[in-house]
Amino acid sequence: MFDLLDQYQVNELHVRNDAASGLKAFIAIHNTQFGPALGGCRFIQYENDLDAMQDAVRLARGMSYKAVLAGVDQGGGKAVIIKPKGYYDSKLLFAEFGRFVESLQGRYITAIDSGTTAKEMDIIQQYTSHVTSTSTTENPSIYTAKGVFEGIKASVKHKLNKDDLQGLRIAIQGVGNVGAALGQLLDQAGCHVIVADISQANVDNAMSKFASEVVKPEDIYHTPCTVFSPCGLSNVINKQTIEKLGCMIVAGSANVQLSSHEIGQQLHDKGILYAPDYVINAGGLIYASLEHQGISKSAAVEKVAHIYQTLSDIFQQSKLTNTASNLIADEIARSKLYEAINQAA
Ligand code: NAD
Repeated sequence: MFDLLDQYQVNELHVRNDAASGLKAFIAIHNTQFGPALGGCRFIQYENDLDAMQDAVRLARGMSYKAVLAGVDQGGGKAVIIKPKGYYDSKLLFAEFGRFVESLQGRYITAIDSGTTAKEMDIIQQYTSHVTSTSTTENPSIYTAKGVFEGIKASVKHKLNKDDLQGLRIAIQGVGNVGAALGQLLDQAGCHVIVADISQANVDNAMSKFASEVVKPEDIYHTPCTVFSPCGLSNVINKQTIEKLGCMIVAGSANVQLSSHEIGQQLHDKGILYAPDYVINAGGLIYASLEHQGISKSAAVEKVAHIYQTLSDIFQQSKLTNTASNLIADEIARSKLYEAINQAA
């Protein structure tokens, strides 16, 4: 376990095992240098406890990198609740999770993530104030979509020296919360939006609102397009799919899009521009952070728009040094983080 914490430089790992509610949860805190750690709460099934712990630790560091590059005053943290295989009482379980968050006295602020919604955040809020994305706030996915839209514009500018998206073919994998909101923005910008999803209801929604074309989930990778936008799953760019890609740019909201750092280098070598996931998908974090601090919505909108410039700088550096964009983003995030830690020491 300590090897894992060392590998991801995670300082704190908290565990709660509560038989009465069935709660089995981890909260990993990577750092609190810039403010309390803010990160979502996953509620999904895991093969085993180790996988759940690894997910919390790995994602906590990702949240630190995301916060530092988005310029929000938060540290990185993540919670993982292992979803029970049998019956559970959601109210009891999330009440106990609320107490768990409260026990950390504000060092960690929770939010929605895979498997949780505003409904669960409302339960948690009865036990702690260290929670965002409740039903009284806006859905952060809208802000994530706005950020991805800015990121696509920055990518197109860098790759094609084009200032608008008019007429471009953009393929979205997964039209859930973020993918659907993004699709509408792209449609309004005059794009030909191609979608794939395993949920027929979400495909129908996309077709009725913005999509020009639907392809089967397995066909989305080789669909000819300017931008492939993964907005569903993790690890979608891997040894198998990289060979199929029919795009010039990969820019979407999904977390952990690359199966490894090396895949990022391979994209770079193939001339496919990659918008690093935690940079382009920071809109939801920006909104959640500013909303929790009581800062105005217009400030969030402005900060989300800045994703364009952050990505443009990364692309520029990637080109100048002939280094993959994911490695450049990691390097900038690490140096900003450790510069601040050293200054404080
Ligand atoms: P969501 O669950 O609402 O949507 C995901 C969509 O992907 C669903 O419609 C699902 O059916 C589809 N999907 C699943 N497997 C698929 C497959 N094999 N092929 C095609 N489609 C498939 O999730 P979301 O909130 O829209 O988030 C999307 C991604 O963005 C996730 O990776 C999430 O971690 C990441 N993200 C989301 C936010 C946010 O604000 N919601 C913020 C940062 C990152």
